[in-house]
Amino acid sequence: MKTRRNFIQQVSLTAACLPLINFMGTPLIKNHNDKILRVAIMGLGSYGKRVAEAMKDCKRAKLVGVISGTPSKIIDWKNRYNIPDKNCYNYENFDTIKSNPDINAVYVITPNALHHDEVIRVAKAGKHVICEKPMSINAKLGQEMVDACKAAGVKLLVGYRMHFEPHTLEIIRMRNAGAFGKALFFQGLSGFIMGDSNQWRMKKELSGGGAMMDIGIYSVNGSRYMIGEDPVWVTAQETKNNSQKFTDGLDETIQFQMGFPGGAVASCLSTYSMDNLDRFFLDGDNGFAELNPSTGYGPIEGKTNKGPIDAPVVTHQTVQMDAMAGIIFNNDKPVVAVNGEEAVKDLKIIDAIYEACKTGKKIDLNL
Ligand code: NAD
Repeated sequence: MKTRRNFIQQVSLTAACLPLINFMGTPLIKNHNDKILRVAIMGLGSYGKRVAEAMKDCKRAKLVGVISGTPSKIIDWKNRYNIPDKNCYNYENFDTIKSNPDINAVYVITPNALHHDEVIRVAKAGKHVICEKPMSINAKLGQEMVDACKAAGVKLLVGYRMHFEPHTLEIIRMRNAGAFGKALFFQGLSGFIMGDSNQWRMKKELSGGGAMMDIGIYSVNGSRYMIGEDPVWVTAQETKNNSQKFTDGLDETIQFQMGFPGGAVASCLSTYSMDNLDRFFLDGDNGFAELNPSTGYGPIEGKTNKGPIDAPVVTHQTVQMDAMAGIIFNNDKPVVAVNGEEAVKDLKIIDAIYEACKTGKKIDLNL
């Protein structure tokens, strides 16, 4: 059985005789002088906690600071992760992180609509930025973030953890090797039942939208890495069964279709009103690949027309953060990009999906 423990044992054995290899195929620890990425997390909520726990197992990244508006959370995190007082900030004073050499990068894990201003402030403070998905709430704001990071000379990476997931990467490797023939069709199903209506995800001013911004984005992004191309058009239809819960601007369910330059089409579902929807399916003229579950925290399972995919089960955020250290310090090129430009493409598609829902028109994309 593939378990995390088995995988770690396997890796430890292998590491005894070989340099540790990450899932981008590049050595994780190239030499003993490789720099450790020293990270401050901004936003100490549920995903921030998950990232912090996962980072305990990182080889090249370390949690060394926090930015939070809640003093009691700072005290808790300081004790839990051994964070010194000098690396603790709040939302008023975090620009002074500029003069703190102990921190290389800030990981922004706050509600979606706040990412724009926070990322730009971090960039101006001269630190590299990792930002959660969706990077912003529309493509225009996303582009401003990319431009600000470029102007400040810092890297902007986005928390696309599936881009480092071994089953996903194996399918991409097989597709590139021609194992499925010409890609013709992708189906992406992304959804869950939104329980708590009081959270920020259900406030458009903080979320920027409904299910599409939160979970549908996985099918948007997944269609691109599974097919290996960027779409050239999109159509979309919205269904709202509960308009009291899903008020104006909060999409409940959207089906969307995309066309790709090589002739492939995608058909996807994004919803906050159905469970058990976490599946990707890629069909080619000579085979197929399936991920089911495809983007949850795991274990991810994959199969193709050739049989089950035998790949390690990993903690996504651990491999993501180690790989991001390599991207930031060594200019490593991941198999699928995780930079701000990549995120702007997804935001352009989401903008077009919303426009298509409103107008009923087919929207051309120029990514
Ligand atoms: P959460 O509600 O659990 O945490 C959000 C944090 O932001 C809280 O600590 C909250 O106090 C803080 N915050 C700061 N300013 C705030 C404000 N004005 N209003 C409300 N909260 C404020 O949310 P989460 O699930 O941790 O999501 C945070 C981000 O991470 C989102 O962008 C989300 O899309 C992303 N996320 C990504 C993944 C993934 O798998 N990559 C999973 C979950 C969430």
